[in-house]
Amino acid sequence: MTVEQVTPKVNLLGMSEQKMTEFFASIGEKSFRAQQIMKWIHHLGAEDFDQMTNISKSLREKLKDIAEITPPEVVQRWDSKDGTRKWLIRVGEGQNVEAVYIPEAGRGTLCVSSQVGCALDCSFCSTGKQGFNRDLTAAEIIGQVFIAAKSFGQLEPKGDRKVTNVVMMGMGEPLMNFHNVMDSMNIMMSDFGYGISKRRVTLSTSGVVPMLDKMGDYTDACLAISLHAPNDELRNQLVPINKKYPIKQLLDSAKRYITGLSDKRDITIEYTLIKEVNDRQHHAEELAELLRDIPCKVNLIPFNPFPLSDLERVSNNALYRFRDILHNAGYVVTIRTTRGDDIDAACGQLAGQFYDRTRRRERYEARAQDQEKIIPVKQVP
Ligand code: SF4
Repeated sequence: MTVEQVTPKVNLLGMSEQKMTEFFASIGEKSFRAQQIMKWIHHLGAEDFDQMTNISKSLREKLKDIAEITPPEVVQRWDSKDGTRKWLIRVGEGQNVEAVYIPEAGRGTLCVSSQVGCALDCSFCSTGKQGFNRDLTAAEIIGQVFIAAKSFGQLEPKGDRKVTNVVMMGMGEPLMNFHNVMDSMNIMMSDFGYGISKRRVTLSTSGVVPMLDKMGDYTDACLAISLHAPNDELRNQLVPINKKYPIKQLLDSAKRYITGLSDKRDITIEYTLIKEVNDRQHHAEELAELLRDIPCKVNLIPFNPFPLSDLERVSNNALYRFRDILHNAGYVVTIRTTRGDDIDAACGQLAGQFYDRTRRRERYEARAQDQEKIIPVKQVP
């Protein structure tokens, strides 16, 4: 008996315009088909080739044999009383990630995940404590935008849209899943995709410098740096990848990226304020000095506590003191207001559910049971 090999169908949902054009060329079809199909998927939300009335029946039959349009499945959706919406999205058996939509005056931002968990283990981040399983595919990443836009009944790029901004700040380090993230961001910004302006799509990285050095070859999206400390000694404790790529290397690379863009833009510096860890006056003064030559604005994020963390939220006094020091030094400073905390959707709280290949979660849980200090971050008086 011979076992027939079944070739898996290609998922067209995650194909960038270039890859879609190559795909149609590979099956002997004209390149304009790529744009037609992308519009059906991303503008009209089609998941079935039979909906595509301007595509001939013979091509639709051919596509059904070799391709599919399969978004990841929504397991659960929560709606916060403040309008924040969170989805738990299945990306395989026992593997779930989260995406969050945050409405604000005049805009709506979707926070998108790039990996199932995260390998980097930043001290203040719930995702990091859950461990890591795998990278998301491009279809699973752009699928989060597809799901969100569709849930509001709005995919068409023109007109009054709900999802106006996307930040790659959900679960995972986007530059550790470089090509899938770049393809997804290209679909977000393509006129045949979601048509979101390059000034409204932001990639946030904790500092994977070699990939940041390549990013300018693939995209001109905005850049945010998860900095969280003004010196290497403290950042090594909060963001472990800093031991490999210290602050100077990271900021130099970020500056090269931003000054290489065709228009003038600032880097967003993300700084999570943790009580008596990185929220003191001298930290603010050191940060102001560090960023002196960097075209940037600073976004302060009060730490959001989560299970498996013994770090604490900054006090309001320390938060405003920190802001004022930066402000007086000439920086544009914003404070991220906590949104969606009734549905655990606030920044740093995304956890998902998945099998942790690193067994990191187990180790943190064991420490918590033994009532050991979970996160060995030195506190300053
Ligand atoms: S902050 Fe980002 S890079 Fe760090 S552990 Fe969390 S998801 Fe990973």
